[in-house]
Amino acid sequence: MQAKEDPALHSRRSLTLRFDIPTSKTKEFWEALKQGRFVTTRCAKCGHVSFPPQSDCPKCMGGEFSWTDLGPDAKVVTFTHVQITPASFVDNDPYIIAICEFAGGPKVLAWLEGVDLPKVKPGMPVKVAARASAEGNPYYVFVPA
Ligand SMILES: [Zn+2]
Repeated sequence: MQAKEDPALHSRRSLTLRFDIPTSKTKEFWEALKQGRFVTTRCAKCGHVSFPPQSDCPKCMGGEFSWTDLGPDAKVVTFTHVQITPASFVDNDPYIIAICEFAGGPKVLAWLEGVDLPKVKPGMPVKVAARASAEGNPYYVFVPA
């Protein structure tokens, strides 16, 4: 005997996020971001530029790296308009998330602010900009160039 399938999706879960993210290996990134610079790691062995910063190269597994400036200039590769927000952003208005590519290589995902949705296009020039959360945590967004 088969159970009757309910055609609707229901959830009564609530979601609370509490986290402490260790930043000892990426301290340079966070300190640079506080100063408005956007940096990441470059593998000393093969030259691969990673984002997010990696202490071990995902391409050659080398463990030596240097810090390199990526920003601020990038271009929109693709984007989406988030109208039904996840629980942790339930107090936010709808927002745009974009994947943007830096001239130095990496593609980075972040919110795109300061532009109306109809004006956003792939190839649009943007700049990465530093922000601080209400808790004082640095984060980054893209804004029109
Ligand atoms: Zn490498």
